[in-house]
Formats: sequence, C-alpha cells, structure tokens
Amino acid sequence: MTTADPSALDAAEAARAALVEQVGAEVVGEHLDASPEEEGVVTHRFASREAGYPDWVWAVTVARAPGTDRVTIDEIVMLPGENAIIAPVWVPWRERIQPGDLSPGDLLPTDEDDPRLVPAYLAGDLDEWERAVVEELGLGRSRVLSLEGRELAAQRWYEGDQGPDSPMAQSAPGRCEGCGFLVRLAGPLSETFGVCANEFANDDGRVVTFNHGCGAHSEAQLRKKQLPPPLPDHVFDSLSVDDFEQF
Ligand code: SF4
Repeated sequence: MTTADPSALDAAEAARAALVEQVGAEVVGEHLDASPEEEGVVTHRFASREAGYPDWVWAVTVARAPGTDRVTIDEIVMLPGENAIIAPVWVPWRERIQPGDLSPGDLLPTDEDDPRLVPAYLAGDLDEWERAVVEELGLGRSRVLSLEGRELAAQRWYEGDQGPDSPMAQSAPGRCEGCGFLVRLAGPLSETFGVCANEFANDDGRVVTFNHGCGAHSEAQLRKKQLPPPLPDHVFDSLSVDDFEQF
C-alpha cells in the first residue's frame, strides 16, 4: 500500500507557487485535496478558474527524493472533473459512417472477409493473381452476395419503409403484387421483392415487398364521395357583349 509522504503532503504552497508561475495566479483557485500516487509522490489538486473550462482542475504532482527534505515539481496538468465538458470518445470513421452518409468522391472499401460476400467462381478466397485473371478475362464479378448478405438485405427491406408494416402500406388500397407498376426481379429475392416503377409513387425506383402498397396503385379508384362534383352544362350568353365581340 502507498504511504503518504508527510513533507510532500504538506507541499501545497510549493505546488501552488509552481502552478502560478506556469499558468498565472488569475486562473488558479483554492486547494482542493492531495492524494498520494506512490512512495514519496503526492498530487495536489487546485480549482481552475480558466474561462471555458468549468469543473476542470489543476493537478500538480510533487515528489520528495529519499534522504532529502526538499520536494520537487514533477508535473502540472489540467484534468477534467466529474462534470467537466470533454470531447466524446473518438470513433474511427469506418465505424461512424451510417447508410446515406457517402458523398460523391467518398470511398468505402469492403473488407476482404466481409461475410455478406462470397467468391463468385472459386471456392475459397481469391488471391491477387486470380482476381486479376477474373477481371482481365471479363468474367464479371469476383464476389457475389452470400447467403448471409442476401438474408440481411431481405430482412432490412422487409422491415423498412417499403415493407408491409409501413403506414403507407397499411392504408394502401391494394398490394404491390397486384399493381401494374411492379417490375419483377430475377433470382432468389424475386420471390418476395420487386421494384416500383411508378414515377408518381414515393417508392419509385425502390425495392418493395409484394405485400407493400400505396395510394398510387395502378388499380386504385376514388370512391364516389371523393370524386369532384360534376360541372354544370355550358350556358350560351346571348344578352351581354364580351371583349372579343367588340373587335
Ligand atoms: S405504385 Fe405503389 S402499389 Fe404500385 S408498385 Fe409502386 S409502391 Fe407498389
């Protein structure tokens, strides 16, 4: 266990003097406490009056070498208190990015071992040479969606705004599967999803589930009471003279 060195503990004034010399008396407040760090080493804390740093404290570490009475200054730093405003923990850009964050020119490389993708032509990973051959021969994509990647996409689409539970789908007059604007897909996802091709629909150009729907459904009809009232017949005015007749 660390024992507090009495002379280092008593060195609050020496610590204050060193602190004032470094940062100026106007930003140094009262002595808060002193805590032992290790044998002969003690940190004295002082309140900070630095503008823009509420609840930060000055920490001055002093040490007394064995066999001497004199304490020396080890370190002067400013540390955040419990309620101090500090920067949030730094998160790498790769982990921070959210769907839709990419701007023109940004790059978001996919990891070699991304579980959403599998090699298209060979079992196992493609090395650099194999990838070059695939590209040179124009054989197409070297990786394609894995089963996991496909399931993740299907779940995301199904639970999203183009799925059956969105408010738009819930109040739609019909489902996409019966809509003339639905474009069919190929492949395994085609059993549940298609693409909306109605320029007036909110989901134009988006993948929609068959049981999604919207008010722009090709077979949607206005109810009788929603139709505009019929216009009255034209009237032939034979009494007044209009502008055109004056020429
Ligand atoms: S117009 Fe509406 S109902 Fe038709 S495919 Fe698009 S989203 Fe589905």
